[in-house]
Amino acid sequence: MPDAIVAEGLVKRYGQLVALDGLDLSVPEGTVTALLGPNGAGKTTTVRVLTTLLIPDAGRATVAGVDVLKDPQLLRSRIGASGQYAAVDEYLTGFENLEMVGRLYHMGVQRSKDRARELLERFRLTDAADRPVKGYSGGMRRRLDLAGALVANPPVLFLDEPTTGLDPRARLDLWDVIEELVAAGTTLLLTTQYMEEADRLADSIAVIDHGNVIAEGTANELKALVGGDRIELIVEHADSLAIAQQALEGLAQGEIRIEPGLRRLVIPVEDGSQALVDTIAQLAKHEVRIQDVGLRRPSLDDVFLSLTGHEADELINGKRTDSDEKVGGGAR
Ligand code: ATP
Repeated sequence: MPDAIVAEGLVKRYGQLVALDGLDLSVPEGTVTALLGPNGAGKTTTVRVLTTLLIPDAGRATVAGVDVLKDPQLLRSRIGASGQYAAVDEYLTGFENLEMVGRLYHMGVQRSKDRARELLERFRLTDAADRPVKGYSGGMRRRLDLAGALVANPPVLFLDEPTTGLDPRARLDLWDVIEELVAAGTTLLLTTQYMEEADRLADSIAVIDHGNVIAEGTANELKALVGGDRIELIVEHADSLAIAQQALEGLAQGEIRIEPGLRRLVIPVEDGSQALVDTIAQLAKHEVRIQDVGLRRPSLDDVFLSLTGHEADELINGKRTDSDEKVGGGAR
């Protein structure tokens, strides 16, 4: 699959501050990549460079086959962008906003009107079409903003924090709409601070920190970075900790951690559900009484904390990513 978006060694400085520090990225056609990172990581700067709004100090990028620096005008006709900085005119109606975008793309009066109506319908804004945007809810504005990015039917779409500030219902709503677009073949680069959003929408996730991709992979690959499933077990009597440890040694994929004060054992396992069944059977056989037992799967939150928190150095140096080249591909 050819890449719809390629960035190589992007650097962007603001005075002393290095916003992008040699960032590499590629997004295969027809797929979704999420840039996941904390505030100030460089997500918006990346999107602004890729959408021709900002000229990088170094590096190169192509989007939809067009060099970002060489032919920004042509590029703009092949992409759609929406998000934090996108503009909808508060005083125009939803319909007028979309019609105006069509006119800006030289689509002609009739086609602009038709396309505006079609998109309003698709984004369930028909009832509000003739009301000024001023009175729209946050969710309605985001949908209109996204509709605006689609007027010219672009093959590549950039969404900068599409659901920031939305309530859970509106977020789910927008996710559905985005999934429909992707199913229809659009290549999508989205930025987000929400792990859940990256987990749900993205084929591939690039974790960004300090202007660099520090890890890249599918949600599952990234979760594997912080260790696989583990069983957490609390025994009734501290005396049985050692017996439990011995009984479960055969199931553990690595070292069993014991926290005597909490009467707790943490057992790294491979096939979590089966291991849970086996654990309970083993403990029953050895007559170890359990107070609590559960399967814990790493979330993207765990990944994020581990990558951008105090363990980041270890990961950036590639010690833990060496074992899986694909996952560690973005590490440097
Ligand atoms: P957020 O989630 O807060 O939007 P982000 O990951 O999108 O964060 P960027 O907006 O790309 O981060 O910012 C990267 C760094 O560059 C930040 O430290 C930010 O303060 C700085 N920065 C961005 N734009 C400018 C600017 N116009 N002038 C000076 N510094 C800037």
